[in-house]
Amino acid sequence: LSDLHPMRYSLSGGHDFDPDFELRPNVLDLLQHVFIKQIVGREKILQKQLIELIDLNQQIGVIEKTRHERIHTKRGGHMKTQTDPDEVDDLATLEVLDENIVAEKLQIRYGRDQIYTYVGDILIAVNPFHKMEIYTPQYTKMYIGAKRTANPPHIFAVADVAYQSMVSYNTDQCIVISGESGAGKTESAHLLVQQLTVLGKANNQTLQEKILLVNNLVEAFGNACTVINDNSSRFGKYLEMKFTCGGTVVGAQISEYLLEKSRVIHQAVGERNFHIFYYIYAGLADRKKLAHYKLSDSKTPKYLCNEHIKLGPDIVSNTFYKEQFDAVEQCFKVIGFTLEELGSVYSTLAAILNSGDIEFSPVATEHQTDKSDITNISVLDNVASLLCIRSDELQEALTSHCVVARGETIVRPNTVEKAAEVRDAMGKALYGRLFSWIVNRINSLLRPDSIGEDDKGLNIGILDIFGFENFKKNSFEQLCINIANEQIQFYFNQHIFAWEQDEYLNEEVDARMIEYEDNRPLLDLFLQKPMGMLSLLDEESRFPQATDQTLVEKFEDNLKTKSFWRPKRVDLGFGIHHYAGKVIYNASGFLAKNRDMLPADIVLLLRSSENELTRKLVTHPLTKTGNLAHTKASFLSVQPGEPGDTPYHPRETTNMRTQTVASYFRYSLMDLLSKMVAGQPHFVRCIKPNNDRQSNKFDREKVLVQLRYTGVLETAKIRRQGYSHRILFANFIKRYYILAFHAHEEPAATQETCAAIMEKAKLENWAMGKTKVFLKYYHVEHLNLMVQQA
Ligand code: ATP
Ligand code: MG
Repeated sequence: LSDLHPMRYSLSGGHDFDPDFELRPNVLDLLQHVFIKQIVGREKILQKQLIELIDLNQQIGVIEKTRHERIHTKRGGHMKTQTDPDEVDDLATLEVLDENIVAEKLQIRYGRDQIYTYVGDILIAVNPFHKMEIYTPQYTKMYIGAKRTANPPHIFAVADVAYQSMVSYNTDQCIVISGESGAGKTESAHLLVQQLTVLGKANNQTLQEKILLVNNLVEAFGNACTVINDNSSRFGKYLEMKFTCGGTVVGAQISEYLLEKSRVIHQAVGERNFHIFYYIYAGLADRKKLAHYKLSDSKTPKYLCNEHIKLGPDIVSNTFYKEQFDAVEQCFKVIGFTLEELGSVYSTLAAILNSGDIEFSPVATEHQTDKSDITNISVLDNVASLLCIRSDELQEALTSHCVVARGETIVRPNTVEKAAEVRDAMGKALYGRLFSWIVNRINSLLRPDSIGEDDKGLNIGILDIFGFENFKKNSFEQLCINIANEQIQFYFNQHIFAWEQDEYLNEEVDARMIEYEDNRPLLDLFLQKPMGMLSLLDEESRFPQATDQTLVEKFEDNLKTKSFWRPKRVDLGFGIHHYAGKVIYNASGFLAKNRDMLPADIVLLLRSSENELTRKLVTHPLTKTGNLAHTKASFLSVQPGEPGDTPYHPRETTNMRTQTVASYFRYSLMDLLSKMVAGQPHFVRCIKPNNDRQSNKFDREKVLVQLRYTGVLETAKIRRQGYSHRILFANFIKRYYILAFHAHEEPAATQETCAAIMEKAKLENWAMGKTKVFLKYYHVEHLNLMVQQA
């Protein structure tokens, strides 16, 4: 045995015998041929040894394991098998289906560590909150091209279906991952990328490596520790993996949405700033480079201060942070950033940290009492030197501002409060733009060479966007996040329900109508022009005299729907009844957050920097223009391409007054949707089983709430009685004609030809439309398998 694979084979492993392994006959033949003479009377031992060899060789494709469910279900010493009456991999196959049954099935499965469950072709993933041994190369292999029913539900199966559909039907794919904070979206996204890079057989190892590193890099800058999740994504991410038409992965592109910039300057109790700040601090300290970047090893920068963190052991000598810093730097290098760029990134981060420590005090002169001065000039000098700008000019830009009145430019002093606001605005803007720059740089480094603008090849997009949020205090950020979720829910509904039903009607296929919660009125409430909430906010943001109070009053006067109300006794409060529940928002700070002003004086100053990156951050168009004209309007709640939906180009303005956060947000949302609707969707619904991050706790009530608002139940119903695949006659025939015709024949694209194929394949319960064949997902699997065997 060891001669076969001496490097891999070792008898010392003490492997358990597992009767579920089946050998390919040719392998058995080979082994028997080699060893037959030596094993008479020792079959049992050999069988055991074979099992070890099989295990070791799975990764190199010698042997395949065909029955393996039991591995999944081993827990607490007991074993369950697929024949259990309780065992349902696909809830859409249940005879009786109500929310309690779904929750109960999920709970039973969760108890056995079966975290994945299908509802039709949608995957439910319940966060295990512990490491699972189901993502090894062995599993990767098991799910490649496998029939869905051959394996237990798995995130790898979703990757496989998306990949196979892309290649078979030559269409883009889109995997939408949803769920609340901490439900497991980002982990799922990682696993999808991991599986897709294997499926896409990258021609060179480096590209595969680069793609796998993209998530890590972006997450170091965009994720942070929150009270809910230690690695919470504070931005939305759409990662598109690019493939050739033949299915070889050739690159990747990321789009980022709504980075929570306010975290740079302030973190809630028990929360932290973006990971990268701690990594860089520990990393630079380790390399004795803190002084070079003007950082102190004895005083925590204000932007990193909160009651839980002390600079000493918590940051500077934290080994985890140091390792992460090395890992991030490695990601940068492998992806292709230059050392010079890296130095500039670190300088910018250090400048942001230093800027937070600039302090102001009031200066009372004879004529003016509202002037401010900087009390710690050395810190100011640090910031200026890191950004390669002049210190005196920075001082001026922070403590005063220019106004143009009747053609004349007048310099006005800033109060202490105003100066601090400008300082914080600069920190947020620098970080937000640095993040966008990194993303854009990654995109240019991973843009496929072979695929030009005209020939886009194929792609699989993975959407990992923050889930619905409802905190004690909900502000502008929560409103934007919840609107994004509302839009994604709309897309989900459109796809699962409306489109399905429309298509049945158009194709004259008989199917019972299903009622569902249509959230379109809510989207209109937010996004409609000119009277939607975001438009009203923009309008109010244009009035210098407006306040958050006048804003709420404006909402109240104009938004006449029962989904909006003003709660009594809550100052500046307003309530929205979202698809996922009622949320009370507090409008305090809405106007300032929406204007997100970076004063022209600061922009101009940064443009004069001697550092190329600093200049780029304020001069280059960082955002690509999406082509909204091609968006299927039925998916959007407002028509694309309207004035105000144009992307933000820093080059076009020195003042963000003309481009509010709301209008850019609206644009990004439309851009995202336009990308999503271009592909065939797949849905992964992540469920958080408890609020305590415990691995064996299933809070039924909590799960029920999530099931309700993600539409899982309706999905189960419609999927059970509906048809998940609708294929045009011509496509269907092109792919499957071989099952009923000779290779040289060219049967006509008609109902009769399709019916002949279906009969030959002995399929039942399919439906024939006017132009398409309507199939259930298991029909497609069956057909594909038959084609493979033909
Ligand atoms: P957020 O919206 O805050 O970004 P999220 O939905 O992206 O949350 P994740 O960061 O993916 O949540 O998951 C939270 C934590 O749950 C992970 O850090 C990990 O500890 C655990 N977890 C999630 N999925 C898995 C999994 N498949 N296996 C093991 N642990 C997991
Ligand atoms: Mg996340």
